[in-house]
Amino acid sequence: MTLSYNPPSVINASTSRQAEQVKPRAIDLPGTDCLIKSQVPLAGLTSYRVGGPAEWYIAPRSLEDLQAGFEWANSQNLPITLLGAGSNLLVSDNGIPGLVISTRYLRQTKFDAETGQVTASAGEPIARLAWQAAERGWQGMEWAVGIPGTVGGSVVMNAGAHKFCIADILVKTQVLSPKNFSNSFEDLSLNDLGYSYRTSILQGDPRLVTQATFQLRPGADPAEVIAATQRDLEQRRNTQPYNLPSCGSVFRNPKSHHAAWLIEQTGLKGYQIGGAQVAQRHANFIVNCGGATANDIFALIHYIQKQVQEHWSIYLKPEVRFLGEFQPMK
Ligand SMILES: Cc1cc2nc3c(=O)[nH]c(=O)nc-3n(C[C@H](O)[C@H](O)[C@H](O)COP(=O)(O)OP(=O)(O)OC[C@H]3O[C@@H](n4cnc5c(N)ncnc54)[C@H](O)[C@@H]3O)c2cc1C
Repeated sequence: MTLSYNPPSVINASTSRQAEQVKPRAIDLPGTDCLIKSQVPLAGLTSYRVGGPAEWYIAPRSLEDLQAGFEWANSQNLPITLLGAGSNLLVSDNGIPGLVISTRYLRQTKFDAETGQVTASAGEPIARLAWQAAERGWQGMEWAVGIPGTVGGSVVMNAGAHKFCIADILVKTQVLSPKNFSNSFEDLSLNDLGYSYRTSILQGDPRLVTQATFQLRPGADPAEVIAATQRDLEQRRNTQPYNLPSCGSVFRNPKSHHAAWLIEQTGLKGYQIGGAQVAQRHANFIVNCGGATANDIFALIHYIQKQVQEHWSIYLKPEVRFLGEFQPMK
């Protein structure tokens, strides 16, 4: 697809960045109904509720708008950052340079009763999909009900819970490259994605997940699937701190032990830096107790890694993704 228009010029990036900090503005993305906004605060768009602004931001409502956004960013030589529900992210206090594209309005779902497959767009909340499946009596997504991410973010992260994960149900996903977007969409099958525990080849990859197809098991009694879904949700609410902003589990579980156990045994439950605290209820959660900055959370992540390394000689690898610049710590 080729879009013909002259994008507004923001070529002098450093000067424009300073100017935009003073005066946020919005410009039309030509050929679409979409606005490109500058200096958009991202804290409210992440589950940690921290982080600075996006230099430029769009939330396309269609794939055509998305492609136009790619074209605009390319024409301005701007880096592109993809944002789902922001539930596994730590955004720098300095914000994110370039164009941030949110998938929040890319929502469409199709249940195919013949195949038992459901296809959902990138921005569809995975928990909502789990409820919709349960209400139809389709099994296979009960475990996803407590995950506050989107379909796109969950495919990238291989999100999982209760011993199940996206890799168990994914049939295929459709991706779009920001550099090659006019050349159409690409389907990736399960085997293309290099899935392992909370990992896929799409992490750190510029391609955007536009939709995904999952194989479920229709034909069960909806009341039973709803009850199982509800049980999974309650179990999580009883063991995890859902009342304060967080990103869920901060670290991947190493092979030998659960990260939460290692952190708790190191005596770090309740440890606090600024407004960031190791949760009392679940030691692999860092919660924002109010007024935390991204730097507080970053410093606490580093402190936990250092302490656990000293006590157990185990390096805890973050599951949370870092966006923007952070000062390396000693
Ligand atoms: C309270 C709480 C509980 C949680 N529990 C769990 C849990 O049980 N299991 C679990 O696995 N996770 C859990 N999480 C973490 C998080 O919800 C998942 O990782 C989720 O899948 C992230 O989806 P997202 O849409 O929020 O992605 P984001 O956080 O917005 O993004 C995550 C990464 O994916 C990229 N990305 C996002 N959308 C796309 C797209 N469409 N195409 C390409 N790249 C994209 C982003 O650039 C980023 O690198 C929890 C988080 C919270 C806050």
